[in-house]
Amino acid sequence: MSKTYFIRTHGCQMNEHDSERIAGMLEQNGYALASSPETADLVLFNTCAIRENADNRLYGTLGHMKALKEERPELRIAVGGCQVQKDKALVLEKAPWVDVAFGTFSVAELPALLQRREETGVPAFEFAEQTETFPSALPSRREDPFHAWVSVSVGCDNSCTFCIVPFVRGRQVSRRMGEILDEVRALVDDGVVEVTLLGQNVNTYGRDLDGKPLFAELLRALDGIDGLRRVRFTSPHPHDFTPDVIDAMASSPTVCEHIHFPLQSGSDAVLRRMRRSYRAERYLSWLEQMRDAIPGLAVSTDIIVGFPGETDDDFEDTMRVVERARFDSAYTFRYSTRPNTEAGSMPDQVPEHVVAERFQRLVELQEAISLQRNKAMRGETFEVFVEGPSRKDPSRMTTRTRTNKIVHVPADGLSAGMFVRARITGAHPHHLDGELV
Ligand code: SAM
Ligand code: SF4
Repeated sequence: MSKTYFIRTHGCQMNEHDSERIAGMLEQNGYALASSPETADLVLFNTCAIRENADNRLYGTLGHMKALKEERPELRIAVGGCQVQKDKALVLEKAPWVDVAFGTFSVAELPALLQRREETGVPAFEFAEQTETFPSALPSRREDPFHAWVSVSVGCDNSCTFCIVPFVRGRQVSRRMGEILDEVRALVDDGVVEVTLLGQNVNTYGRDLDGKPLFAELLRALDGIDGLRRVRFTSPHPHDFTPDVIDAMASSPTVCEHIHFPLQSGSDAVLRRMRRSYRAERYLSWLEQMRDAIPGLAVSTDIIVGFPGETDDDFEDTMRVVERARFDSAYTFRYSTRPNTEAGSMPDQVPEHVVAERFQRLVELQEAISLQRNKAMRGETFEVFVEGPSRKDPSRMTTRTRTNKIVHVPADGLSAGMFVRARITGAHPHHLDGELV
C-alpha cells in the first residue's frame, strides 16, 4: 500500500502554490493524499514568517505533533517554508522530533531528504541560500479544476524596511516567458479557465532575464491563449508601476478588472521610513489613471497600522487617503516586528493599545466604504464564474465576478465551472447576493 501525506499550509498564495508543488512531487514519488494528519504517514508544515503570530502558531502545532509521534513513532514530520528558512537551527532545537526540514530554495530536495531520513535513521535537512534559476520542473497538484496559480517570479529585490520576504526568499528570479506560456497552455488543455500570476513584485518581472521581457508583454501574450477566460495577478508595487501595464490591462479582454495595489501607509513620512519610494499623491494619481483607463476597475490593497514612529497625524493621513482611494477591500495588518529587517530596530515602536485603537478605526472606515461600493453594484448585471456550493448555505452557489467580488446566487441548475450572468440584489461589506438573468 502506498504511503500517505497531509500538508498544512500557513501564509500567502505563494505558499499555497508551493504546497501544490510539494504535493505534486510527493504523488510523483508514490504518496497518496490522506484525509487528516492523524491518518497520514507524513505530515508536512509549509510555514510563513511574515508576522510574529505565524511563528508562534508553528511552535504550538509542532508541540501537538510530538504527542502524535509518540503514539506512532513511524510517523514522519517535515517542515519547510519561510519560517524554517529564517529559523533553521531554532526549529530543530525546539522540535527535535522533526524528521525532515527544508528551506525555501530546497523544495525540490524533499523526496531525497525523505529517503535520506529512512536510510540514516536521523533527521535530514537542506537549506540553500539562493536559487539562480527558476525551479520550473516541479509537478503540481491542484485542488481546483478551473483555477491555477502560476508563478512568474520568486524572491524580491526591494528592501521595504518592515518586510522579511527578501531575507527568506532571496533576490528576484524570474521565469522565462516561454515557460510560463507553455504552463498556462497546458493548464487550459487540462480544463483551467482562470489563472492568477504570482510574484512579489510583478512589475519588475523579467528584469533579471535575457532580453528583459516586460510584465505588460506577458499579459498581452497570455491574452492570446485560446480557452483562457480570466487572468489575474498579484502584486504590482506602486513604485515600479508603469503605464504600459495599464494599457495591457485595458486592451487585453482576459485580464480582469481588478488590481491589488498595496498602499501600506497614507503618510509620506511613514512611506519614506518604510522605503516605499512612491508618495500618497502619486499613489492616488496612479489609481485615477487606472480607473480612467479601465472602466469598472476594482481595487484592493494592503495597509500596515502602527509602523515604528507612526504618529496620530501619520495615521490620520492614512485614514484620509483611504477615504479618497475608495478601495473595494483592504487587508489591514498590525505592524509586526520581524528579525533581519531595518524597521525591527527602529526607535518609537507604537504601543499595542494605540495600534489596536487605530486598527479598529481603519477597519470600520474600510468596511463602510466596501459596503458603499458593493451597494452601488445593486441592480447591475455581471458575468460570474460558478465556484461551487456556498459553504454556509448549500441552496446557494458561490460565484465570482471579474472584479473578484463574491456573489451568492440560487444554486438551481448550476454547477461549478459555469460562466453565467447575475444581477446584484443585495450588498454586504465582503460579498454580494444575486439572481441569475
Ligand atoms: N510583495 C508584496 C507587496 O509589496 O505588496 C507584499 C507581500 S507580503 C507577503 C503581504 C503584505 O504583508 C504586505 O503588503 C504588508 O502589508 C504585510 N506585511 C509585510 N510585513 C509585515 C510586517 N512586518 N508587519 C505587518 N504586516 C506586514
Ligand atoms: Fe516585501 Fe516590499 Fe518585497 Fe513586497 S516589495 S515582498 S513588501 S520587500
